[in-house]
Amino acid sequence: MKRTKKKLIKYFHLWTFRLGLDNWERHLYLLSRKKDIKRTFKKEGHKNAIAYINSDWHYMYLSIYINMNYVKGLTNYKLQKLILHELFHAIVNEMRETNPKHEERVATYLTNAMIWSINDVLEKEKTNGKKKKSKTKELDKTSI
Ligand SMILES: [Zn+2]
Repeated sequence: MKRTKKKLIKYFHLWTFRLGLDNWERHLYLLSRKKDIKRTFKKEGHKNAIAYINSDWHYMYLSIYINMNYVKGLTNYKLQKLILHELFHAIVNEMRETNPKHEERVATYLTNAMIWSINDVLEKEKTNGKKKKSKTKELDKTSI
């Protein structure tokens, strides 16, 4: 649980920075006590949610609430995806339509798009690394 909390805090700072949300007033609540979870998630109408966000684009404010009992054992990939999904809600908040399912779909799409982009960048870095290695070998052979 302690490692998961540390990871969530790390990903929260990493992604608020990368998404330009680091100049917003922001809070991360990692709830593990039954009493806090029941009160917080029930109050906001997110009874069975893993997490939810309260945000206000007018005042650049966001608070993410996470039910720690549901995130135990999740992979780093899933923890980051969870944080990203909630942060994108803050970004798309001002596009809110009468049907909130629009915002849900866009947040899920943008989360996936970001992960695809990062995986693509990482894959390209790996390829460049191999090319550099082989160039070094070629240079070594020539110098001999
Ligand atoms: Zn959502």
